[in-house]
This record gives sequence, C-alpha cells and structure tokens, in this order.
Amino acid sequence: MSNCCLKSVPHSDSSFETFAAPVCDWTARLTAGLACSVQASDQTMGDLEEEILRQTQGLERKLLEEASQKKADQSPPVCPVCGHKLTRQTRDHQRTYQTRFGPVTIRRLRGWCRRCRAWRFPADYALGLSEEGSASPGVQEMAALVASKMPPAEASAVIERLTGVKLPRATLDREARRQGRRAEQERKKLDEQMRLAEGSKQMLALPEAAFTLVIELDAWNIRERDEWGQSARIRRAGGEPQRWHWVYGGTCFRLDQRVQSAGGRPRILSRGTVMTREGVDALREQLFAEAQRHGLAQAAKVLVVADGAVWIWNLTGDRFAQAEQRLDYYHASQHLWAVAHALYPEEEGRARAWIGPLLRKLKSGRTPALLSDLRAVAKRLRHKKRQAVESELNYFQEHRNRMDYAAARKSGEPQGSGAMESTCRQYQCRFKRPGQFWSCSGDEALMCLETFWRNKRWHLLFPHCFHGDPCKN
Ligand SMILES: [Zn+2]
Repeated sequence: MSNCCLKSVPHSDSSFETFAAPVCDWTARLTAGLACSVQASDQTMGDLEEEILRQTQGLERKLLEEASQKKADQSPPVCPVCGHKLTRQTRDHQRTYQTRFGPVTIRRLRGWCRRCRAWRFPADYALGLSEEGSASPGVQEMAALVASKMPPAEASAVIERLTGVKLPRATLDREARRQGRRAEQERKKLDEQMRLAEGSKQMLALPEAAFTLVIELDAWNIRERDEWGQSARIRRAGGEPQRWHWVYGGTCFRLDQRVQSAGGRPRILSRGTVMTREGVDALREQLFAEAQRHGLAQAAKVLVVADGAVWIWNLTGDRFAQAEQRLDYYHASQHLWAVAHALYPEEEGRARAWIGPLLRKLKSGRTPALLSDLRAVAKRLRHKKRQAVESELNYFQEHRNRMDYAAARKSGEPQGSGAMESTCRQYQCRFKRPGQFWSCSGDEALMCLETFWRNKRWHLLFPHCFHGDPCKN
C-alpha cells in the first residue's frame, strides 16, 4: 500500500472504519514483529519483507472488503446489461471472492430483469466480478498472466509464493482459460474495428518520412488431444487421428524500428505479433489488422519475408498484393546444400568446394547465373541425382524473384525471417513442453493472452493495470 493511497482516502461521512481502532492494533503488531526481526542476528531484509507483507495483508484485505462493500451498496438496482429497472429485489446475497489480499466477502443486491429474463447482481458488474468465477479482477489478471507463461501446477505454486494468493491448479486453469476466451473476443472486436476503418485509436504513431513495413510469417506445430479415445472410431471411418496441428504466426514492424544491439545483433523496438491455431484464414485476417495498425496503408513499401511454404505466398498475394516478396536466405541456402549433398554424398569437402561459388551468387543476387549453373549441372546427371537437382532447380525457379539479397543488404532490410522464427520458438517454450497435450480451444485462448501481453495491449483486457502510458502494460 503506498502513501498516496492512504492520503486519497476521504474522511468525513465516507471514512473507512478499517482506519480507526484496527489500525492502531495493526501498527503495534507490525512494529513489534519488525523489532524482533531487527534484533535477530540470523534475519535479513528478506525476513523484514516477509514480516511487513504478512502484517499488512490483513489490513489491506479489510480495507478492500469495506471499500468494495461501499461500491456494491451504491450500485443502482438496474440491469447492467440493458439498463432496465430490476424487480423482485432482495438484499444481502453473500459471496466470497479470492482477491490479492485473501478472501473477501461481499453482500449484494439481486433483482430480476424482465427484459433479459435473468437474475442480475448489479454490484458484480460495478466491481468487475464474474458470475462464472470467484476471482477478483486482480486475481483474474494474475491467473491469466502466469498461466500463459507456465503450466498451471507451476503457476499455482509461483503465485502463492510471490503473492500469498492460494489458487489451486484447477481453479487457476479454469480462470486463465476464461480470461483467454475473453481475450479472443476482444481481439475479434479490435480486428473488426480495423477492418471497418474505425480503428484510428489503435494506430501506432507513424513517422513523417516515407517508411517500409516489414511482414514476416512462419508456422510450427502443436500436439492436441481433442481426439483422445476416438482413434478406433476415426480409423474405422477410414481416417487417421491427427495429434499435431499447425500454429500460424506473423509479425510486422517498420524498418526504422529495426536497430543494432551493442553486440551487433538486430533488435526490433516496436512490433506487432499474431499467432493462431485456427488456420490460415484466421491468420490472414489477424495479420491484416495488425499490419494496418503498423501503417500498412501509409507505407511507401511493404516487404514480406518468409520461407518457401506455399500457404505463405498465397496469403501474401491475397492480402498484401503490392508487397515485395523475399525468400528467407537461410532456407534458400539449405536448398543449395541439398544439391551439394546429392552430388557428393558423404564427401563433405567436395560438396563444400562445389557450393562456394553458388552461395556467392545466391548472396549477391545473381539469380539468373545461379539458375543456369544448376541447369548445366542437372543436364550432366542421370536418374536419381538428376531428379534431386531438378527438384531443387524448380524450387529456385519458383522463388527467382524473391532472392535479391544484395538489394536487401543495400537498403538495410532483413534477408531472412529470423525475427518471426525466434518468436515462434518463444511460443513453443510455453506451448510445446515435453508431455504436454492441448485442446484447440485451450491453446488458442492462452496463446491469445500471450499475444496481448507481447503486443503491449494487456491493459485492454485488464484496464485496472493501465496507468497513463499507453505503451506500457
Ligand atoms: Zn436486462
């Protein structure tokens, strides 16, 4: 509790009883406890921290209970959904909520809304409490944040250690998923606003000078158990149960936001990420909205960088038709290595000697020369080796206009989609742990929370954590 909170508590008729007698009691207990810790030679500042935390929490809990009750008492008896006056009102419906400071019990008014044909508790709405769960908004946020970072069992233990809040694993899991579904609805609403050109508030500040917008795409897979116990049925129907599913991701940023770190590695100051398990169509709409927020319509140039996957270039042609396209350099070089290994299997030295000049051509953007070299090689070969080289030749033909790496270096643009690949790896650290299985709805909900956090839009889900700077969570 900070001093400014204490000062802002009004006196006179709206004073808080918690600050009268109990506060003297509490001060005495706290100072006695602290004095003991100061005397004890084996106690550190850590013990002092624990003592203060233990002693203040009780007071904070009482204060929260009292203030919440006041807020509940002053909520007008109208339906929070439609505004209709409630009938058949009864008072003192008690409910206990889990809060940052421990359990808090509130007495609320209940009434019937004739228009909605539902029982309503106006106080719950005013306090940001849900009918489904008994977590306070602060605890809702805690569950959402920690569960999107680590598995529920671990999250439960971490929350209890750091805050003292006891959230059993199942409760935490249920609450986090509920918040995740809420995040999905919020994302849908925000994306819809962008699509209808009503999202000016969501736009990032754009520079005066002409700028390039970079978009990178990639995919990874996740293991789900939606079809558990149904394998036999699926096989009887002639299918094969699918455990692994694609998660599609994209990121976008302005080129001027890509800077060098002290160690010489590229770092992106501000960017927007999307990640979804709901297919390429869902990714396309989410990424389009994200790109609009980052100035898609205002950009002098749009550049899409990705590996060779067909879905990527179909999506790009569909949603970002004007964009310049670039094949990730590392993926291209791997395809050249495939040719080298087909020509000289188990002769690493010769493969290396052969590939040198071709890699230089690839790197310097001399694509026509590279293609004619590969064609000449293929002509000299027969059977399997020829097939192998021709298949790689087709790959380079397909991507011939996406390989001007010299131009990329000259204009300081990324030659690869490393930024997106590393983002995918970070999501995998949470969502692809050994022994983990997901359900489609479960992983989408938690991934959506993670994405709100990364995109610095956490305060849109939990407005109580928004303190002034819109860039800050
Ligand atoms: Zn109503």
